[in-house]
Amino acid sequence: MEPFIIGAVRYDPEDGLSCEKCGGRFCTWGGNYKEHVKSRRLAATELKKRVSPSYYVKEHDDVELREFHCPHCGLLLDFEVYRVGEPNRVDYEPLDRAGARGYDARALFEQAPDSWITFQ
Ligand SMILES: [Zn+2]
Repeated sequence: MEPFIIGAVRYDPEDGLSCEKCGGRFCTWGGNYKEHVKSRRLAATELKKRVSPSYYVKEHDDVELREFHCPHCGLLLDFEVYRVGEPNRVDYEPLDRAGARGYDARALFEQAPDSWITFQ
């Protein structure tokens, strides 16, 4: 498999996951880079200070925003909305690793073939 980029993260089966801007390494192939970079949790009201006053941002006790930054150059890698306590999501997982934890795409497709999206 050839290396590829999702957002600002380079995924390389040989070299692992790294920053697309500075090349700094985050973790090995198959890891969740979000567990290995700088992260910051902030409340919706904090976000409101940064965006235009025309945006309506409602505070909610069960919702938090998370920023993920490159620990080498500081680049903002991702910004996501989470429920409080929810683990960091994985943006990409190699199929063999997903299969090892029970993911079976064929079975899921056969259960609900109309629920899948095809990109052409
Ligand atoms: Zn970087």
